[in-house]
Amino acid sequence: MSFAEIIGQKRIINLLRRALAQEHLPHSFIFTGMEGIGKQLTALTLAKVVNCENGAAGDCCDRCVSCRKAASGNHPDINIIERDGPFIKIEQIRALKQRLRFKPLEGRYRVTIINNAQNMKIEAANALLKVLEEPPAENLIILTAYEITSLLPTIVSRCLNLPFQPLATEEISTHLCQAHGVEPEKAAIMAELAGGSLSRAAALLDEKQLDRRRWLLETVAGIHESHITDLLAAAKAWKGEGPDLKQDLEWLKTWLRDLLVQQLEAADSISLLNLDFAEKVVGASSRFKPDHLLEMFELACTVQGAMRYNINKRLSLEALLLLLHTRATDRVGDPRGHPPAQARGPFTWPVTVGR
Ligand SMILES: [Zn+2]
Repeated sequence: MSFAEIIGQKRIINLLRRALAQEHLPHSFIFTGMEGIGKQLTALTLAKVVNCENGAAGDCCDRCVSCRKAASGNHPDINIIERDGPFIKIEQIRALKQRLRFKPLEGRYRVTIINNAQNMKIEAANALLKVLEEPPAENLIILTAYEITSLLPTIVSRCLNLPFQPLATEEISTHLCQAHGVEPEKAAIMAELAGGSLSRAAALLDEKQLDRRRWLLETVAGIHESHITDLLAAAKAWKGEGPDLKQDLEWLKTWLRDLLVQQLEAADSISLLNLDFAEKVVGASSRFKPDHLLEMFELACTVQGAMRYNINKRLSLEALLLLLHTRATDRVGDPRGHPPAQARGPFTWPVTVGR
């Protein structure tokens, strides 16, 4: 993979190329942005470019020994540091400091890529700070992170921060068609759902993921007709799915977003993310008040964020489904003949501890 082959991020790649051409490459970078938009790929490609034996026009050749070693993960001067368990530990940064005492073995630069640097323990971050304060020559350090605010300000101030943008829908759909042979119509839907992330789009190539999305959207589309016991059973089954939960909540968010867009814009289906569910979006959107949709969206984000901690997943999911059911029947009244519920205050998220 060369700079020319990276999808999107043209502004950042042009900036790196200019810095290379002017021989003004900073010694340390932070690449920030969401998952699946090319941060790690760009970092590795930059490592290849600075060490390529035939490097010309600010790109790598992808054929020389150095490029091939880098691509296979065997270049002695390209080190990638990832978390060991839940964190990047101080021992890993100490080992890096040891390596930095010596000159690069084969290449022009030793490149260290610290992936997801927000996972650094505070001691590790402080140890890295010392390295960044006095970087040895012929070294390039690249940190990747979701958000700049997840890193120590003292680290941020010593690096050039390059914020990566989500990819354009067209860039993703073109890639799905060309690299994976997806039909253009299906690729357009998948690209919308990917929300700018190529890795999310790639996950959608898995039919199971699409089936799951269909199941989830059909469940929430018909939630006003669901019986409470069915919803409790769904929350129980949902909880058992583990790693897919985060993605499921992402689907739920796209659904809520579509309902809101439908209400606010009286949208044509072009504005919808779930294009294949357009009819159901139109049917369901009138069941909710706009502020309830915003409230549900916020809650889905809260639960998604809280998944990282030890929350009671089943209780959280039950509350989410029951609230959605309650809000769906607020406007039109209960299908069993009860009158519409009276206006309620904002929902307060229950604090749940343990499992
Ligand atoms: Zn090369």
